[in-house]
Amino acid sequence: MSDPVQAGRDAHAAADIAYLRRAMRLAADAAADGDVPIGAILCVAGRTFFARNEKERRPDPTAHAEMLALRSAAATLGRWRLTGATLYVTKEPCAMCAGAMVAARVERLVFGCRDPKGGAAGSVLDVFASAAVNHRVDVAAGVLEAETAAQLRAFFAARRTAGGRDPSPGPQSPDVL
Ligand SMILES: [Zn+2]
Repeated sequence: MSDPVQAGRDAHAAADIAYLRRAMRLAADAAADGDVPIGAILCVAGRTFFARNEKERRPDPTAHAEMLALRSAAATLGRWRLTGATLYVTKEPCAMCAGAMVAARVERLVFGCRDPKGGAAGSVLDVFASAAVNHRVDVAAGVLEAETAAQLRAFFAARRTAGGRDPSPGPQSPDVL
């Protein structure tokens, strides 16, 4: 109980959960616009950047929550190298976003549910473990896993009920990407 190392870990875990909960609220905003509910928060240099998936809204195939958070931070800080950054996102990132995190030198990634169809942090491939990658990102997976997965499932279920465009999507439909 008085172990300072364990206390530090617990504080870290509590912060991860708090940020993921906030990211889930951003994800809910995306769903309100017809986008797959994915939210991201990027903390770097004492600043916090908020983004959500806007692929349909813009429309832009690269407007994933993580990409928008990285772009916003780089533009605001005036540098592409986001050393010391922690990126929180409600779902395992795709190959594009994982690659962008490496390119931006993000220090730490915290994500919610896994994406067995498109996840690039160990599910389908692992960009962060690739020998071709010369920057190491510390990855924490499965934070609020059940809640973040349920948010995606609810979105696709509602879309099916509405007779939407996607006849047989699972919670990790390819449409997520
Ligand atoms: Zn992505």
